[in-house]
Amino acid sequence: MGHNPKYRQWTVESWRGFAPTVSDMHRYQWATYAMCQRCALEIDVNLPLLIRTKGRDYSLWGRTTSCRRRFCGGRMWFFTHPHRAEGWFMMEAAKRPVTPPDTA
Ligand SMILES: [Zn+2]
Repeated sequence: MGHNPKYRQWTVESWRGFAPTVSDMHRYQWATYAMCQRCALEIDVNLPLLIRTKGRDYSLWGRTTSCRRRFCGGRMWFFTHPHRAEGWFMMEAAKRPVTPPDTA
């Protein structure tokens, strides 16, 4: 696959615009997990299961979910590794309108 240097310039906004939905993330095989901000539990995100239960247009960007550990009560944030990126991005909400990056 190799790392095209241009993708190092991409910010979280670029990746959000590139794959706004769970079906996009699944198509590009982005590894994704959720981590609890209270107890640090980490769980893998099953993108095919999310697509089946929430629909192809569901989005994890800007979302949190309740911790899966019994009695924790914390919130889990999502992290993803875009297929052409070198690191992980927290899937924070857009701070301004999303425009897909130039992929040419
Ligand atoms: Zn927790």
